Amino acid sequence: MIADNIKFITQRIASSCEKSGRSADDVILVCVTKEAAAGQIEEAIASGISNIGENRVKDATAKYGIIGDRVIWHLIGHLQTNKVKEAVRIFSLIHSVDSARLAREIDREAKRIGKRQDVLIQVNVSGEKTKFGISPDEIFDLIEEITPYSNISVKGLMTIAPEVEDPEKARPYFRALREIRDNINAVRGTPYAVRILSMGMSNDFEVAVEEGSNMVRIGRAIFEDC
Ligand SMILES: *Cc1c(COP(=O)(O)O)cnc(C)c1O
Repeated sequence: MIADNIKFITQRIASSCEKSGRSADDVILVCVTKEAAAGQIEEAIASGISNIGENRVKDATAKYGIIGDRVIWHLIGHLQTNKVKEAVRIFSLIHSVDSARLAREIDREAKRIGKRQDVLIQVNVSGEKTKFGISPDEIFDLIEEITPYSNISVKGLMTIAPEVEDPEKARPYFRALREIRDNINAVRGTPYAVRILSMGMSNDFEVAVEEGSNMVRIGRAIFEDC
């Protein structure tokens, strides 16, 4: 069942890529395991999953203890500064950096263990009060602030679109994030230094890929009813 779901999602990603004239290899599927048991995660890995997303550091610690470095770990949820130490130990990519203070903590901890921590800036494109992330007009300043830190590296941007019934309604938010990224690279004169666009979940990933997403975070469509 999980294997079938992953196969189906992979096909849908490929056809969205085709629609927008891109290669399917361009999109990384992050399998979101926050609701999944260890056995289900093993099944996903056996079906070809190599990127795992968790939204809580504490849950990830337990699962990392079992699964370890067989997969690449992504922190997709909000990160509190008191969890930075553990997060830097486990995660290859932290998707949720939204303040200079958090970035500074990550840099400090990464330096301590001799790591260069890759991160994404979480952007609240829709401006919803319930969402984490910085507002689009703060991104430049935040990136400028982080750039001198030698143990943290901004690889891209992440957003969560508003929950809407019709995924077409999410399209403008995805498009906006891509434009923000392209703008950053144009102004900084460093094409693709900020390359990753982490956007698209179970109910809207096809639209996100059509708008340039190269990292989708999918949970329910893989594990629901399994
Ligand atoms: C849970 C979660 C996802 C996955 O959502 P699904 O609807 O289960 O695909 C993606 N991103 C974040 C930040 C999440 O918390």
